[in-house]
Amino acid sequence: MAAEPSSNRCGSCGVEVAGRPERCPSCHRRFVTSTQVRVSGVLLSVIGAALSVGMAYLLVVVAQAMRPSGSAARGAFTGTPRDATLIFAILGGVLALGVTSLVTGVWQVTVGRRSLLLSALVLVLGLVVAALAILFLPQGQ
Ligand SMILES: [Zn+2]
Repeated sequence: MAAEPSSNRCGSCGVEVAGRPERCPSCHRRFVTSTQVRVSGVLLSVIGAALSVGMAYLLVVVAQAMRPSGSAARGAFTGTPRDATLIFAILGGVLALGVTSLVTGVWQVTVGRRSLLLSALVLVLGLVVAALAILFLPQGQ
């Protein structure tokens, strides 16, 4: 994994290119160096790890609040089972998004390339979570 200083490696297809062209001459995608891919990979990993830990924690907290046998002291859940399912679906979706972001980030840092599949997966999960939240969360009426 020795990085050449004079030439850049395409972060999409891995081909080595002199300088920094607008588009990769090999795969014709917007040229992003493997260094840039690694930097964004670090960002993705950090965000993904934070999301995963945060959501895992929230899931535990919510699960405990919903436990019916608990003394109904603090944070007792008052919603319907449907609400509970939705909350778990959204939290679980964000958790999946976090884990996928983390995996994608670690992949980008180690390989120095983008994974089209993983990026698409992150995008799809993000859209699903956003759609779930938009469709079901503001049901106050
Ligand atoms: Zn390329």
